[in-house]
Amino acid sequence: MALIVQKYGGTSVANPERIRNVARRVARYKAMGHQVVVVVSAMSGETNKLVALSKELMAEPDPREYDMIIATGEQVTVGLTALALIELGIKAKSYTGAQVKILTDDSHTKARIIHIDQHNLKADLDAGYVCVVAGFQGVDENGNITTLGRGGSDTTGVALAAALGADECQIYTDVDGVYTTDPRVVPEARRLKSITFEEMLELASQGSKVLQIRSVEFAGKYKVKLRVLSSFEDEGEGTLITFEEDNTMEQPVISGIAFNRDEAKITVLGVPDTPGIAYQILGPIADANVDVDMIIQNTGADGTTDFTFTVHKNEMNKALSILRDKVQNNIKAREIIGDDKVAKVAIVGVGMKSHVGVASKMFRTLAEEGINIQMISTSEIKIAVVIDEKYMELAVRVLHKAFELEEA
Ligand code: ASP
Ligand code: MG
Repeated sequence: MALIVQKYGGTSVANPERIRNVARRVARYKAMGHQVVVVVSAMSGETNKLVALSKELMAEPDPREYDMIIATGEQVTVGLTALALIELGIKAKSYTGAQVKILTDDSHTKARIIHIDQHNLKADLDAGYVCVVAGFQGVDENGNITTLGRGGSDTTGVALAAALGADECQIYTDVDGVYTTDPRVVPEARRLKSITFEEMLELASQGSKVLQIRSVEFAGKYKVKLRVLSSFEDEGEGTLITFEEDNTMEQPVISGIAFNRDEAKITVLGVPDTPGIAYQILGPIADANVDVDMIIQNTGADGTTDFTFTVHKNEMNKALSILRDKVQNNIKAREIIGDDKVAKVAIVGVGMKSHVGVASKMFRTLAEEGINIQMISTSEIKIAVVIDEKYMELAVRVLHKAFELEEA
């Protein structure tokens, strides 16, 4: 007997028929003698609807109320999934985040899980119930409903698997695994049988939407065995997220290519090249809880420098006004400009650690297409570039080919 957490995304619970399918799969796992915890997202499109509704009443919704509203989608699907299970003769019980007691901090809309009380779930599992838990939501220490950031049900699934010591966390989605890149952009993209946790983390942080990044962080930290599978197929082994040290096979140089249009570039022009400038620019940005991704600063010959960084597109205007109102005069910057017509493309692979020439190959491939690189950032297993948004798909296609990712 194993304890398995199965997380189903929005498309997997999009209508009653699909929910019945979920229930049938859960029933099969029960019949094999396993204990099953099910985590569900809201029906696809529901959370977006709730977001739009909130914004109709308040352009920048009050965070506490916003979480109260957008957490409701999952309350519907846990109830429906439990009904479908009960109809199949399976003992099932739905739970909100608060009922489990998924305790989070109080940073509404991007709360972090602090602790999960496994008491109630364990008792119900031992009594033969399937526990159906609402993804995406938690509760802070004052009882306020919080949400974990868009796509947060993945994190709920993995965190529950960690807390319960589950044997496996299965993430069911509308694709049958993790691909070398998005097949909608590159039809030749190939499903990976396995990928290391480190690579998955980079891919997720660079824009791959298969798993929410926090869920991957969690899986790494608590060594949760994680598998991505299609909820529309009964066969298929999906993609297993492995740990590098457990991996005996030779690693390809590049495992995948991620991309996103979610970032915007902010450049602070003509600032004095003196100690403390980076702090004076980014301090107020951090204080406003705006995440910064890439950062570039060059030393200028004339004693001034340009300072460039990227933030999420949705936060560009907020960041620009902070800089213009509070920072520009203090640091005597000539000008502050924002550009949201950029995209980020990243190649990821643990094989990079032991190969040279990967960056030059990437840059040559882009140069041959006349694509200008605006920013570069690297880690041990990743090279990311910021380019003009309109060349993004072209860049992904030529890189996929150059690194021979279509071949197994
Ligand atoms: N329903 C939430 C969202 O759309 C959480 C999730 O789907 O994981 O972001
Ligand atoms: Mg999702």
